[in-house]
Amino acid sequence: MLYRMAKLSIRDLDLTGKRVLIRVDFNVPLSKDAEPRILDDTRIRETIPTIEYALRRKAKVILAAHLGRPKGKHVDSLSLRPVVDRLRALLDHVIGESENVAFAPDCVGPVAEELARQLENGQTLLLENLRFHTEEEANDPEFAKQLANLCDIYVNAAFGPAHRAHASTEGITHFVAQSAAGLLMDKELTYLSKATSDPNRPFVAIIGGAKVSDKIEVIDFLIDKVDALLIGGAMAYTFLNAQGQTTGKSLTELDKVDVARAALDKAAARGIKFLLPVDHMLADKFSAEAKTQVFSGAEPFPAEMMALDIGPETIRLFSAEVDDAATVVWNGPMGVAELAPFAKGTNAIARALSKNEDAITIVGGGDSVAAVHNSGVSDKISHISTGGGASLEFLEGKTLPGVAALSEK
Ligand code: AMP
Repeated sequence: MLYRMAKLSIRDLDLTGKRVLIRVDFNVPLSKDAEPRILDDTRIRETIPTIEYALRRKAKVILAAHLGRPKGKHVDSLSLRPVVDRLRALLDHVIGESENVAFAPDCVGPVAEELARQLENGQTLLLENLRFHTEEEANDPEFAKQLANLCDIYVNAAFGPAHRAHASTEGITHFVAQSAAGLLMDKELTYLSKATSDPNRPFVAIIGGAKVSDKIEVIDFLIDKVDALLIGGAMAYTFLNAQGQTTGKSLTELDKVDVARAALDKAAARGIKFLLPVDHMLADKFSAEAKTQVFSGAEPFPAEMMALDIGPETIRLFSAEVDDAATVVWNGPMGVAELAPFAKGTNAIARALSKNEDAITIVGGGDSVAAVHNSGVSDKISHISTGGGASLEFLEGKTLPGVAALSEK
């Protein structure tokens, strides 16, 4: 699964004078004002290198994206129009003239076609929300063909939506001569496929979050790949139950104890380290105001308490594994990281990764990525994945339709 070797990259193409349709991830949070404002433009900024790359090579750039869930209808509050100004500002250093970013009020049809035809080299056209048409998510071939008609070359720069087979991520590739990965997609594939197919060792994975049921496929896949698997978050308590320990009022999935036991057995059979928390931060209720206590894990678990974070000894144990690793993949919080008293474990893992500058470190998932940003160590992480669901599916060993559809090199 060495995608990077196999799949065409935007770097492999001659873009000059070509109409290049770039599928981007502009699914940004908007304010509820009459004129919606962009509350966080991270996703837009992340695609700028790919757009800039194409513009500097004198391509005619057409940007296609979705925003929110308009369910196939035109919804004013989910228009991509507010993105135009932000794009103009972010691309100003490349193209200089702000009118070089135009907007098509529909992503397909005669107006979009005419605007795409009028594009000159180095100009950009942003198409209206793809999901204003039900055909986008239905992966309708006619709709995909209409999108394809706008361009000569297709580039998928959006990793997040790549795990869905939609018209703009999969269907379109059947109607264009060349489909390539954008820079961000290329980086995602390079890091994730290196980790899962040819990792530098020791390879340590840290998986956290609420539920065994959400992460069991990742755990199952990684047990075959890693040298050590470290489990934190609420799902650790189901694993502790599987080892016969009681866990008081901690969040557990009783119907997943057998699944957890099977994973423990598989890890033992492969002879890898499978580390669970050895101590915990307990709380008397699920609240930032809860009474807390560190529990060593040696005595019986206090029946009326719940574990909301890993304890200091576990932080030391997990950090030591990270220190010795050559590859680290981390997805999911070690505790209830959204409540400050229970964010210590998650933030400590972010810092541990940042300190091992010799290792390839890969972080995915909303809470883990937030912890990396909040701890101010983003620039010390090799790769912060932009697609939560997509990176999880990758770590489950699944083929992403939006990746599989790209042209071979
Ligand atoms: P996930 O979406 O699977 O990555 O899980 C994230 C959620 O898990 C967050 O909302 C956390 O509050 C929750 N979580 C993590 N650890 C615990 C815990 N020990 N008890 C309850 N919830 C937890």
